[in-house]
Amino acid sequence: MPPANAKLNAFPVFMRVDGEAVAIVGNGEEALAKARLLSQSSAVLRIIADNAGGGLLDFIASTGAVHIDAAYEVPHLQGAALVFAASGNEALDRRVAEDARRLGIPVNAVDRPELCDFFTPALVNRAPVAIAIGTEGAGPVLAQMLRSRIDRMLSPSLGRLAALAASFRAAAENLPKGNRRRRFWNDFFTGAPAKAIEAGELVEAHGAALDLLATSAPAEGHIALVGAGPGAEDLLTLRAHRLLMEADAIVYDALVPEAIVAMGRRDAERLPVGKRKGCHSKSQEEINALLIELGSAGSKVVRLKSGDPLVFGRAGEEMAALREAGIAYEVVPGVTAAFAAAADFELPLTLRGVSSSMVFTTGHDLKGNSLPDWAKLAISGATVAVYMGRSVAAEVAGRLVEAGLSPDTAVAVVENASLGNRRRFHGTLADLPSLEERADLTGPVMTIIGDAVAGANFEQSEPLAAHKHEEAASVLAEGVEP
Ligand code: SAH
Repeated sequence: MPPANAKLNAFPVFMRVDGEAVAIVGNGEEALAKARLLSQSSAVLRIIADNAGGGLLDFIASTGAVHIDAAYEVPHLQGAALVFAASGNEALDRRVAEDARRLGIPVNAVDRPELCDFFTPALVNRAPVAIAIGTEGAGPVLAQMLRSRIDRMLSPSLGRLAALAASFRAAAENLPKGNRRRRFWNDFFTGAPAKAIEAGELVEAHGAALDLLATSAPAEGHIALVGAGPGAEDLLTLRAHRLLMEADAIVYDALVPEAIVAMGRRDAERLPVGKRKGCHSKSQEEINALLIELGSAGSKVVRLKSGDPLVFGRAGEEMAALREAGIAYEVVPGVTAAFAAAADFELPLTLRGVSSSMVFTTGHDLKGNSLPDWAKLAISGATVAVYMGRSVAAEVAGRLVEAGLSPDTAVAVVENASLGNRRRFHGTLADLPSLEERADLTGPVMTIIGDAVAGANFEQSEPLAAHKHEEAASVLAEGVEP
């Protein structure tokens, strides 16, 4: 991975050269290579070569490039948009570079990066589409490798499709700006026009694009309630990924990692709506209203929730509000935190002869004195997954023991399940209250309780009880006089 703050020392831009002079100074292979590269553009090549090799002479003859058959002098650069010093002679290249700079013309000196104002990229050419690859110091082999990889990915007819698109730009500007216009282009590049171009049917492609323009209708809003999974990007479903790439707006909770939100289109609206524990940035009513507003405006919205949207995600409230407002929606399941935590622990949530049912619960409904309704299930052997349970760990443990569950019942705890920085802890119900005091657990925490937990792999986990003992030891140590 590059460091997060890695910066490009050279920034790629596309320089307008149509009809402009581009001067190349040199007689040999280097000059010829640059001339070939530049001849992919509509620039007018001016080759300054007093002793041009056979290859270069052939090139000049076949392309009609301007040939200045004389020893280099400053006036040869006059009026050029770009200059290439490709003589292979260091003193001459340096002179050319200095002259160009004095004239205010950007210069590239072959194999002499210290003399360069710009570098030439490896190029995948599907004119008018160009993909430029720069690797700075990493060398031409890498650049060529990437070039051929990208080249294989792109249809040979991409250029024709892009040219057709360019001819429809003005007509598409007449569609209202926003998602209706975007939808036209989306259908253009993935639908009938693209297919016809791919088949080499240019007239049909043009007709299909006209049809698309004529049938373009105001967009219907749509909300997808999408599970983003427990945190690891590659636990996202393919459907979630596709919807994210199509969305006009992404409305997401605090637990959803930035990297997943970033999978959306660059021009998609990104709307964070909370909720980290203790700091609700938007109330549920405000979120409902926001979804209705976006849907009514015809947006395609992805409402991203951590884990699965139907598990402690308040999706029920959002769906009810959308139904009431008559806005179309769908639900895309995600990997819920309990499943990710179980996977991290190799913990069988159901275990033959031990546990054949499972409870998803939260520690936050324990107010009042009555025993939680799931306590009975725990006693009868269900595996219990506790969401949002860290700050009420003592309450959860206390209630379960009160209900008759043995304090020795196995417990597994995962912070940041599925992520690289996950931490695992194991112990018994009697150890569980120690979770509450742990200020070091700042990520989301999943607790799994039950006899099936005994089947987990504890090799990578720390005992919960150790923390208690360490605390006690440090309290004792602090109390000792030096
Ligand atoms: N809809 C989510 C749950 C949202 S409630 C889901 O299906 O997973 C938020 C709680 O989920 C957190 O307090 C924590 O208990 C749990 N959680 C979410 N992501 C987690 C993760 N990566 N590791 C451990 N627990 C997680």
